[in-house]
Amino acid sequence: MPSLNSDIAARIKAQAASMGFEACGFAAAAPVDEQEVARYDRWIELGHHGCMAWAAGHKELRSNPSLLLEGAKTVISLALNYYPTRFQPPEAMRVAFYAYGRDYHEVMREKLTQLATFIQDITHCETRPCVDSAPIRERYWAQQAGIGFIGRNNCLIIPGKGSYFFLGEIVTTAQLPPDEPCTLTCGDCGKCVDACPTGALTQEGAVDCNRCLSCLLIENHAEELPEWVGDVVNQRVVGCDECQLCCPHNAHAVATTIEDFAPTDAVMELTKERIAQMTGGEFKRTFAHSAISRLRHKTLRRNADLSDKH
Ligand code: SF4
Ligand code: SF4
Repeated sequence: MPSLNSDIAARIKAQAASMGFEACGFAAAAPVDEQEVARYDRWIELGHHGCMAWAAGHKELRSNPSLLLEGAKTVISLALNYYPTRFQPPEAMRVAFYAYGRDYHEVMREKLTQLATFIQDITHCETRPCVDSAPIRERYWAQQAGIGFIGRNNCLIIPGKGSYFFLGEIVTTAQLPPDEPCTLTCGDCGKCVDACPTGALTQEGAVDCNRCLSCLLIENHAEELPEWVGDVVNQRVVGCDECQLCCPHNAHAVATTIEDFAPTDAVMELTKERIAQMTGGEFKRTFAHSAISRLRHKTLRRNADLSDKH
């Protein structure tokens, strides 16, 4: 099937921009590059995915977008800015910026569904929106679609805009003209490798989730974490932004205009005392529409207690 014309492509990109997406690019829905598959497999073999057992599953699906949607021709990669409009006060327990506002799964899903409907209407083709939870290599497709490159901190970096972005994809049977893949790299910079408080990053761009605070604080629900975590956690209870804060590409990050991502009062006022007093029911109500809900009540309390241990 020939590519749909550039007018259709421009209309999709204009619609995405009008919905608040800061970047939108198209990649041909071919199987994932063999080198990339081998790199990922090696990461799993080494056990560097840590407690994220799900990362080892769905190998086939993860490597071929046609298995997510039969007849897929294009992967559309999209990015939403979440850089905060204001920041937590120093007495608050630290929450990574991505979890300041409304749960991005909800926001991304709503926007992708709306854009997917628009694409179906103008192309008469099928679409499948994918948020974080679908087995798709988000950063790989974003790079293939030309919207940015994967940094040593393992984040997708959008040139001129930085890395505080949520990614989402729409796989479609519409054959859209592909964008040029982004070929930029981090070059000689290694600021994130040096800034990581746990030594989780390597100069080769690999992350060991057994040492990454983001993984340990969010994904690991064990009653206790290794003792050394208490020495470096430094008031963090949800994730860690250190390897993004130090990145020169984020030096001029601009605050999001998406109201859903505005910081909630619950995050601004998340002191140690507040966490200690919060009941399970309150946790559920307070964070019902927050990515923090994925942490579970007991994990948030465990994380807050870690800061006593150093
Ligand atoms: S999120 Fe924090 S702990 Fe994890 S790699 Fe980045 S700086 Fe290191
Ligand atoms: S800090 Fe430097 S090495 Fe790390 S992601 Fe940013 S540009 Fe790349």
